[in-house]
Amino acid sequence: MGPRQRCPYLEQIIKERAGPFHWLTRYKADCHVDRRVHNFTGRRPHPPCITDPTTCGLYREAKADEDHQISRYTD
Ligand code: SF4
Repeated sequence: MGPRQRCPYLEQIIKERAGPFHWLTRYKADCHVDRRVHNFTGRRPHPPCITDPTTCGLYREAKADEDHQISRYTD
């Protein structure tokens, strides 16, 4: 896996075991953008929140809104 990047909109993330015999890993991410908890479950889940937020639609929307506001201030 490449370099990891933490999403600036991630409030907190917890990691727990899940599934039968606790075979699986589950991350629960509190997202500031939609104020929901996002679950990522699997053998080796890679939540965008701690790997690559640029792959997350919520991140891209929020970032585009911020960039738009910044360009309004600087114009
Ligand atoms: S990667 Fe997406 S879901 Fe995760 S915290 Fe960032 S905006 Fe929210």
